[in-house]
Amino acid sequence: MRTVVGNEVRFNSLRGLEINTSTCTRCRLSATRKNVVPGEGPEKAELMFVGEGPGSEEDATGRPFVGRAGRLLDQAMKEADIRREDVYITNLVKCRPPDNRQPMEDEIDACHDFLVAQIEFVDPVIVCTLGATALMRVLGKRGISSHRGRIFRLSGRIIVPTFHPAGALRNPLLKPFFLSDVKEVGRLITSREAYGKDRRDQTLFG
Ligand code: SF4
Repeated sequence: MRTVVGNEVRFNSLRGLEINTSTCTRCRLSATRKNVVPGEGPEKAELMFVGEGPGSEEDATGRPFVGRAGRLLDQAMKEADIRREDVYITNLVKCRPPDNRQPMEDEIDACHDFLVAQIEFVDPVIVCTLGATALMRVLGKRGISSHRGRIFRLSGRIIVPTFHPAGALRNPLLKPFFLSDVKEVGRLITSREAYGKDRRDQTLFG
């Protein structure tokens, strides 16, 4: 069984990692969460969605993207012929930021090992980042409007940034772009274009 070592933690499996997060107190978000929301999906998946952090319904259930934003993500996946059960879905931080504020930089840093290990275990061909914060953390780029829907290659994986579905709910003008970006992700998977280049066994984030 593969072992992934972060700065301070060691995981023997994806499920072990998910269990490990349930007792994590590495950042202040542990004090206010009801449930940790590590992520869900198969142990190997061609596609991983990375959002920012859990909201209130996710905090209550321990499952990612089950609230209004999650329902829009479900709609986007359905229109793109992507089955939710085939996809791994997670966030930059695994605990809900109070009042649905954005996660702070040091909270994202504290949770970073979990995300890196999840990517290594799940080994997705495509990572679709949801929102500006996930774009910044994964690709180091600012400006979600100018980067959304574009295809980037990083460490042997394809990265497709798009808007966060919560943003598309707040601003309906963004919704068609969000839906078409996820549709493009579905097209990449079914066309196998994403598999055309050599994939190296490396992690994201260099
Ligand atoms: S957000 Fe991440 S680092 Fe912070 S307490 Fe939750 S699991 Fe731990």
